Amino acid sequence: MPSKARPASPPPFEPPARVLLGPGPSDVHPRVREAMAKPLVGHLDPVFVALMDETQELLRYVFQTENRLTLAISGTGSAGMETAVVNLIEPGDRMLVCVNGVFGGRMVDVAERAGADVVAIERPYGEAFDPDEIRQALKARPAKVVGIVQAETSTGVWQPLEEIAQIAHEHGALILADAVTALAGVPLEVDEWSIDAVYSGTQKCLSCPPGLAPVTFGPRALEALMARKTKVQSWYFDLTMIQRYWGSDRFYHHTAPISMNYALREALVLVAKEGLEARHARHALCGRALQAGLSALNLDLATQEGRRLPQLTCARIPDGIDDLAVRKRLLADWGIEIGGGLGPWKGKVWRVGLMGHGARQPNVTLFLSALGTCLRDLGLSIGVDQAVAAANDVFAQEAEPAVV
Ligand SMILES: *Cc1c(COP(=O)(O)O)cnc(C)c1O
Repeated sequence: MPSKARPASPPPFEPPARVLLGPGPSDVHPRVREAMAKPLVGHLDPVFVALMDETQELLRYVFQTENRLTLAISGTGSAGMETAVVNLIEPGDRMLVCVNGVFGGRMVDVAERAGADVVAIERPYGEAFDPDEIRQALKARPAKVVGIVQAETSTGVWQPLEEIAQIAHEHGALILADAVTALAGVPLEVDEWSIDAVYSGTQKCLSCPPGLAPVTFGPRALEALMARKTKVQSWYFDLTMIQRYWGSDRFYHHTAPISMNYALREALVLVAKEGLEARHARHALCGRALQAGLSALNLDLATQEGRRLPQLTCARIPDGIDDLAVRKRLLADWGIEIGGGLGPWKGKVWRVGLMGHGARQPNVTLFLSALGTCLRDLGLSIGVDQAVAAANDVFAQEAEPAVV
C-alpha cells in the first residue's frame, strides 16, 4: 500500500480569460492553441519528421536566412541563449557581452558558467549601445564572440545590429544576437546583416506558448563549432548532436516536445500568412498608438527616444502611485496582465507588451482606458477619453489612403 494518501481529484483546471499585455507570454491565436490539442505522434514518425522540415523552412523565412542549422531547441528562450553560448564558447575563450538590461546580464552569467573570459560593457537602463563602444572594447581586448540583445525586454530598448555585426567581423569576432523579443516583431535580417548566431523564444512576438527556442547558426558560427577542441559543455544543448536529429540522419537525441512543435509550426504558418513586412508594420502602428495614448495620460516613456521598441513600452510610474496596487486592479477588474520594472527600474516603470496576436487596436484602447481609470480613481487628474482618442487617431491616420 502506498504510504502517501491519495489526493482529492479537483475538477479540470479552468484558467480565467486574460489579456496578456506583459513582457511575455503573449496571447496566442486560437489556431495555435488548437494545434496543441491534436493527437500525439512519435518523435521519429515520418509525419512528425515532415513537420520538422516544414518548421525549419518557416524558421528560415522568419530569420531571413539560408542557414542550414536552423531549428527549435526544446526549452524556453533562455535555453536558446544557453545553446548559443555553450556551442560557441570553449573554456578560456573571450566573450564581449553588451549589458543594458536583465537579459544582457543573464548572457554574462551563462557565458561565465560556460568558462568564458567575459568582458562586459554596460549602458544604463533605457539606453542603446553606440557601435563605437563595441569597436573600442574589441580594440582593447579582442574577443571570439560579441553577445548583444536586439530587443531588451527589461528596458524597451531597440538595439540596431547591422553596424555592430560589421565591427565584430572587422575584429575577427563572431556576433551572437538575442532576438527573443525581436523576432517577428521588428525587422531582423540574419543573412543580410551577417549575424553569425541568433536565438529566440516562442512566447513573445511569435505568439506561441513558451517552450521552444528557435536558433540559427551561420557558416562562421558552424566553422567555430566544428573547430572545437573540447566537447560542448552541455549534453542537452550540444548542437553537434541535435543537428543529427533535425538533419537527414534523424538520429535520436532526446524526445522532442511533440505538441509544442505542433504549436510552433502553426504560429509560424500564421506569421508567413501575414508576411513579415505587414507584421512589423502592425507592431509599429500599435506601439505608436500606445505611446501616443500614454503621453496623453501624462506618463513619461522611460526608454531613450529613437530607440523605443514598438512591442514593449516602458512607462514611468507617476510619483505617489503604488505599482502593485495598479497592476493588481488591472488584472482583477479587466483581466489585463502587464509587467513591472526589473533591476533599477523595479517599482519605477510599467512594461506593456503588444506582441504578436496581442498587437491589436482593441487591446491598445482597452489598456489605455483601464490604466487611465485606475490612475483617475487614485486621484490623478487624467483625461481617459483623450488618451483613448489619441491612440485611435494614430490608427485612423494609418487607415487613410495615401494622397497621390
Ligand atoms: C524573455 C526573454 C529571454 C528569456 O526567455 P525565457 O523564455 O523566459 O527563458 C531572453 N532574452 C530576452 C530579450 C527575453 O525577452
